[in-house]
Amino acid sequence: MTEWTKPLPHPTPLSQPFWDGTKEREIRLQRCDACGAHRFPPLVLCRVCLAEEHQWVPTSARGTLYSYVIQHRPATPAFIDDLPYVVAIVELDEGPLMLTNIVGCEIDALEVGMRVEATYFDASDDITLYPFTPSKE
Ligand SMILES: [Zn+2]
Repeated sequence: MTEWTKPLPHPTPLSQPFWDGTKEREIRLQRCDACGAHRFPPLVLCRVCLAEEHQWVPTSARGTLYSYVIQHRPATPAFIDDLPYVVAIVELDEGPLMLTNIVGCEIDALEVGMRVEATYFDASDDITLYPFTPSKE
């Protein structure tokens, strides 16, 4: 594994099942037991019906590019070698919007509405990141 020197997420008890999923090459979301809505980011209560009960379920890990920006200045100096890079919001097929990066795509080829799918990158023993890339479907 290449040494990752950039900032990493800090899972909480609420978000740990999500990170357990990426480690196993899945995008897992909470699905409300009461109404079936998927939640992201992880929440105690359903945004639709306020129920607390839920299950963690695998998703398609696919969606559409909802919006994006091209970063020409890094969020922190740790990302300076990645410039320019794409910060995006993907609308998952299950409904939630997800903040992520788009990789493996020329910037000129980006298009709102394009199909994308998750890829996985082991940044540490505990954290697997999930940039999206144009879908091969
Ligand atoms: Zn609900």
